[in-house]
Amino acid sequence: MRVLVFSDVHANLPALEAVLADAGAVDAYWFLGDLVGYGPDPRACIARLRGLQPLARVMGNHDAAVLGQMPLRWFNETAQKHLLWTQDRLDAEDLAFLATASQQQIIDDVTLVHGSPRAPITEYLLGSEEAEAALRDLTTPWGFFGHTHKPILWQEENGRASPYFAAPGEALRLKPRALLNPGSVGQPRDGDPRAAYAIYDPDQRLWTWHRVAYDIAAVQKRMQSFGLPERNILRLTVGR
Ligand code: ZN
Repeated sequence: MRVLVFSDVHANLPALEAVLADAGAVDAYWFLGDLVGYGPDPRACIARLRGLQPLARVMGNHDAAVLGQMPLRWFNETAQKHLLWTQDRLDAEDLAFLATASQQQIIDDVTLVHGSPRAPITEYLLGSEEAEAALRDLTTPWGFFGHTHKPILWQEENGRASPYFAAPGEALRLKPRALLNPGSVGQPRDGDPRAAYAIYDPDQRLWTWHRVAYDIAAVQKRMQSFGLPERNILRLTVGR
């Protein structure tokens, strides 16, 4: 069985299309939140996700903010501007689709969240302390998360969390208990500008990170044409 695990599309359609094409045929799609925000194509990305079956998904902080479920003042000024711009572009049906995402999903022995088990929408698992706390809260052997836009595995060993990252394409056999981030499709922040995702095989417990190039310049042009914040346009080039 092949599951596409992906997160933080952020309205970047060319990156999403590149990931779907590169992943090829899969048995299920597990999306870890933040479908909108930052990028120029929120509507097209919502439509594309809606067509994927079977799809499990959770809500991200940008999705929640666009729905009015999270105060805009929790975001920096650039992100706020963009969230308002996104709200203007979505119709009732788009918003209804975003609203049906749950905060957390458990599929067999895997928990899906955007941020962390204790604060599913908001907490960033950036360091070992946060990861250790998150592993204590995790009720399943494995947890898949997004939000930081950085591919990583946090492995629990004697109550401590150690970070690990394998090169794209290298298959990892998962050991309990661990938290894994596939990286971001639409706005990577680990210094590699290519779109990131993972393929998970639940039967063999194999996890493989992948990267795929997409037409970054085309997305930047489109963002420019809408007058979207310069900072978010430039960061796509460097993946930071
Ligand atoms: Zn995000």
